[in-house]
Amino acid sequence: MEAGGNAKIDKKILEGKILKEIRTFGKQTYLVFDEIAVRIHLLMFGSHSIDEQTKPDQQLRLSLTFKDGGMFFYTCNIKLVDAEFLLKIDWEADVMSDEWSPKKAEKKLKSNPKMMVCDALMNQDIFSGVGNIIKNEVLFRIEVQPESLLGNMPAEKIKELIAEARNYSFDFLKWKREFTLKKHWFAHTKSVCPKCGEKLIKKQTGLGKRRSFYCEKDQKLY
Ligand SMILES: [Zn+2]
Repeated sequence: MEAGGNAKIDKKILEGKILKEIRTFGKQTYLVFDEIAVRIHLLMFGSHSIDEQTKPDQQLRLSLTFKDGGMFFYTCNIKLVDAEFLLKIDWEADVMSDEWSPKKAEKKLKSNPKMMVCDALMNQDIFSGVGNIIKNEVLFRIEVQPESLLGNMPAEKIKELIAEARNYSFDFLKWKREFTLKKHWFAHTKSVCPKCGEKLIKKQTGLGKRRSFYCEKDQKLY
């Protein structure tokens, strides 16, 4: 019935439309209407509420009023995309999706032998949804040094990488909901290895130059 908020999009275009479904792809949420969809990325501090506006107007990027309630999105990035855009998304690349395809991920990894494993995990076309924390923890779990090249990693390690990227993402969500995420970190932002007690290395790795925390003793460089 009504669309408001301070996002710099054409909100009028949403009025009178029917919300058909809500889909997620990695860190993006899509509100799918006829012919058009709203893409929401919560960035670092975004949030939402249902039915009731819980934060000041200043933070309100988008509000949608329906006949039977409302949705409010705060401090986030809002974009309009068309139906074509949705068709181009590889939904099977979302690590937490029911449609997640480990086989497809394996194929993508194999076709990039010169790629560092730290860049691969952060690549949203391969592991959509994985972020820097998950990267560091997964590599610690599977005992692989972040600068390892995909082409040098044994097939079994690649399989482990794919499995743990998904497993850890579900653990991440569970712990986040319990407010215990940080407590479960083994490597991310840590200075001492919980396995061997040696000092962890902190280094910006890969083309992405994102912070990596790893143990030189326990994590093998392939
Ligand atoms: Zn260690």
